[in-house]
Amino acid sequence: MQPIDFMKDALAIKDEIIDLRRRIHRHPEIGRTEVVTQKLVEEYLQSLGIQTRKIADTGVLGLLEGGRPGTTVGFRADIDALRIEEKTGLPFASECPGLMHACGHDCHTATLLGAAKILAAHRQELPGNVKFFFQPDEENDGGAQRMIDEGAMENPKVTAMFGAHVNPEIPAGYIGTRPGKHYAAANPFNITIQGIGSHGARPHKGVDAIVVACEVVNALQIYVSRETNPLDSVVITVGTFHGGAQSNALCDEVKLAGTIRTLGPEMRQKTVAAVRRITEGVVQAFGAKAEIDIRESYPGIVNDPAMTEFARQSIGQLLGQDKLFAIEQPVMGSEDFGLFLDHAPGTFYQAGVANPEKFTVVPLHNSRFNVDEDVLPILSAVHAKVAYDYLISN
Ligand SMILES: [Zn+2]
Ligand SMILES: [Zn+2]
Repeated sequence: MQPIDFMKDALAIKDEIIDLRRRIHRHPEIGRTEVVTQKLVEEYLQSLGIQTRKIADTGVLGLLEGGRPGTTVGFRADIDALRIEEKTGLPFASECPGLMHACGHDCHTATLLGAAKILAAHRQELPGNVKFFFQPDEENDGGAQRMIDEGAMENPKVTAMFGAHVNPEIPAGYIGTRPGKHYAAANPFNITIQGIGSHGARPHKGVDAIVVACEVVNALQIYVSRETNPLDSVVITVGTFHGGAQSNALCDEVKLAGTIRTLGPEMRQKTVAAVRRITEGVVQAFGAKAEIDIRESYPGIVNDPAMTEFARQSIGQLLGQDKLFAIEQPVMGSEDFGLFLDHAPGTFYQAGVANPEKFTVVPLHNSRFNVDEDVLPILSAVHAKVAYDYLISN
């Protein structure tokens, strides 16, 4: 049997992948409203003879059954856009005022559709199945969890999970990988500090919620600098601070809201407990009370080391070892791809899109963000190769 030339297959459909990306880019949809994108994805997969089902309201789950028995590998592309007014001036710029694909999810969707086309053409040679996760609502409220809750990882059971994000900090054509801790976990919080009101000239008759809240904010920063290992990464940001209405009265209530960012589940648990302990300790010391609400948002991403090495080998064979980019540092941003990794080992790789000549070096979530489209067929080939290699070796 001839080995499959994934790059040749991908380059043969380069224009089609770029056209898909542009169609999606013209019509960005924010989380939970991705109905046009959903329809495009569904119809495209069906045209390839891939079974589809709608999932998490506005997502699509595709299943390509191989011609030979085997395990099932999953690939995820997020499909949602952002509330950002596009300023790229591109001929295929957003036609929806105030909305933009500024995080590259249009590229993720188009390249995974490209990979599906390549793999579908070789379905008889596939020893197992490929599941395509077109996930809604990554930017807002966690489409990944809703897909998992609706059984996306089962029937057939997914035994390895891969995903990618475009990255304007990595040169175009390179694929970045990182074993272990990669994206941070996020815990948003609200703290209400209850003092006792009094006349502003008689502070000893009350408990000043503003002064106590200031101590809480400072103590949380001291925790980060004095109680965590300087080589670990923890961010505690108090982003809002509201209290008081009268300049000559003691404020009786302050409301704080913020976010905790940590790397890895141990540091997450430890930091969440510390925010609670320190806040309670400080308010108690000053005779105030606190209501503390710390929520779980995305868990971050911890890439499985063996799967990361597996993907590196596979991608290295396709693109050449010199096109592998080792990501030195994790990021404190968050991503809900990590939730899939609670159910199957896997890795999240980064597709470099930076090309100064094409001005594609603008950060994600910026109104001028764009990618080097020559990268798109490469990423489709990468997905297809990793899927095929995983199936033949498991
Ligand atoms: Zn984003
Ligand atoms: Zn994103």
